[in-house]
Amino acid sequence: MKRLLFMSAAATICGACMTEPELPPVQWEGQRIRFRSDEALDSVCAGTLSHLDDRAAHMAEIFGAPRRVVDYVWAPGAALGEYCELPTLGCAVDGRSYSVFALDEHELFHAVTSPPAHRGLEEGLAVAFGDDRELPGTVEGTDLPAILAEVGRTVQPAAQDYPRLGHFVSYLRSNYGVGGLAELAANSEVADGREQLDASLQLAFGDHLETVLDDYGAYPVCDSTHFHYDGFDCGRNIIPLPADGAPKLDSTLRVACDEPETLGPRSGEQWTLVTLSVPAEGRYLLSVYPTNGVSANIRLRRCDASCAEVDDWLPPDGGFWMGLNPCLRQGLYSLRLAVPVGTAGEFRIEATRLDGGSCD
Ligand SMILES: [Zn+2]
Repeated sequence: MKRLLFMSAAATICGACMTEPELPPVQWEGQRIRFRSDEALDSVCAGTLSHLDDRAAHMAEIFGAPRRVVDYVWAPGAALGEYCELPTLGCAVDGRSYSVFALDEHELFHAVTSPPAHRGLEEGLAVAFGDDRELPGTVEGTDLPAILAEVGRTVQPAAQDYPRLGHFVSYLRSNYGVGGLAELAANSEVADGREQLDASLQLAFGDHLETVLDDYGAYPVCDSTHFHYDGFDCGRNIIPLPADGAPKLDSTLRVACDEPETLGPRSGEQWTLVTLSVPAEGRYLLSVYPTNGVSANIRLRRCDASCAEVDDWLPPDGGFWMGLNPCLRQGLYSLRLAVPVGTAGEFRIEATRLDGGSCD
């Protein structure tokens, strides 16, 4: 049941939301969002609301969304049922987001970029440009042409097809860029069927759907934590790694709900995103670990990567990294440090440059 709830989290654009609900009071207002809830905000981590607001502005800029303030309704537990048809974890309708999470970038994407594109494209975009959770379901075992044959004018994609649709958008981004995606979305409408999707692709990219699907067939499979769009997160909280001959990096970072860069809570955790900046390709001696024994989840991803650029040596997600030897490429990497809700993690990040040279 819990899994079913999770799977349907992002399932609605939404055809099933209630009409004209009375909204809870505004508790916080930024440049782009009005954060509404009947809940007190004590449990919302310190960086969350400004992150939502800045992210909304970032998405609006990419997708040329009209300058307006979006209502973001945080309705944990059964309260969500006043706005969305349950079971679900969130929905978006008429340019508003509703979620059981104080931070739900998937629904925020729908709301900010409203009106929605072709239903399959819209959900793929919301997956690719939405939150960085590991999605339930996998890309493997699903077939995009079959999904697109079903989805269209009135039929919403099934929850298990979301990873595949997000993966397709990741392919489009790697081939045509973020600007190309924005153009495609602008040419597309929610009631479009397959023919209109074909016409939108021709208009944006000069390619037919059949051609695009043929080429997409050769795009490698990877999970959403690898193909998720990180252009907003990468570049914030930059920590430069040492260049050749430079002294070792020895940095500490506190991940706790009252820290200004901590986000969440969501799905039982709160987290901080930092960006590691690598001056030149080469091997490092890398350690990242909590020094106070808190249970942690540490994840490293290369920024702006497609599924064709997932390196085998990336350290596996884990709770304690000690003395790893990754080869890092020049550029940026996103480091995500998560701890359970209600705990405080004191992390140490150490990096020594071992030698230069190619990772390949
Ligand atoms: Zn959605």
